Amino acid sequence: MRSFCFTVDVDRDANIPVPGMSQAGSYNRGLGTAPRFRSSGEGIGTLTGILDEMGVRATYFAEARTLSNIGAQHLAGREVGIHGFDHEDFTGTFPPGGKMELLKRACEAVEDLTGKRPRCSRMPYMKISEDIPPILSEIGIRYDSSQYQEMGKEIIPYVLGEVIEVPVPVTRDASDKKIFGYLWPMHEGKRPPGDYVNMASRMENGIFILATHSWHMSERIDGGYVTKQEAKANEKNLREVITGILDMGFKAETLPDATGRFGVR
Ligand SMILES: [Zn+2]
Repeated sequence: MRSFCFTVDVDRDANIPVPGMSQAGSYNRGLGTAPRFRSSGEGIGTLTGILDEMGVRATYFAEARTLSNIGAQHLAGREVGIHGFDHEDFTGTFPPGGKMELLKRACEAVEDLTGKRPRCSRMPYMKISEDIPPILSEIGIRYDSSQYQEMGKEIIPYVLGEVIEVPVPVTRDASDKKIFGYLWPMHEGKRPPGDYVNMASRMENGIFILATHSWHMSERIDGGYVTKQEAKANEKNLREVITGILDMGFKAETLPDATGRFGVR
């Protein structure tokens, strides 16, 4: 039994940590690191269009500030979780109660914008410390996907403090190079779609997560905004990965649905 959870981090364009600040910025393309949202806003429309057309129900992790900037019109009726308020690194230093305050506000903002209380989370930069799961649980989050797990023949969700953790796979490819369930290198032209199909083919049981960023459909860290032609190639690659995985019999479903099927270890 194999499940395919496609996940999208809906966050500020080409986000980077800014020294001395908990709020993230955007990669400096000559005008400083102030956060930008254009690519994210464009990309979410492209992504939801492709996923709908392919019948893939995905899970979205929306950073509150970005969602309030780009609007939630593409996310209505979908599984939308949280991804920080300003894309903070929650393993950093915050004033007492600061983490709870921010995550609670993030939840409320996503609920206001989508009309649905979030029940999933992914922490920015995939950074989660042990004080976070109790906070998530208290604000109503049940499912988290902020850890990597070495991919054996199966990936089954597990208990992480007070939440259910569904990890993102990491393994080695045919040339013994590390490959993560993040499509980042594919969008940057550094890996072909087949690498991810091969990766999925080796999992025999459980939940295979792939992750991407809304902005990565329209912008590369290395090279800036994509041309129309590059955007088309990017879309074609994404379809190829998803088709390859679905053709192997994976069932595409949201994180809560998949976890319901596999249970927790
Ligand atoms: Zn992020």
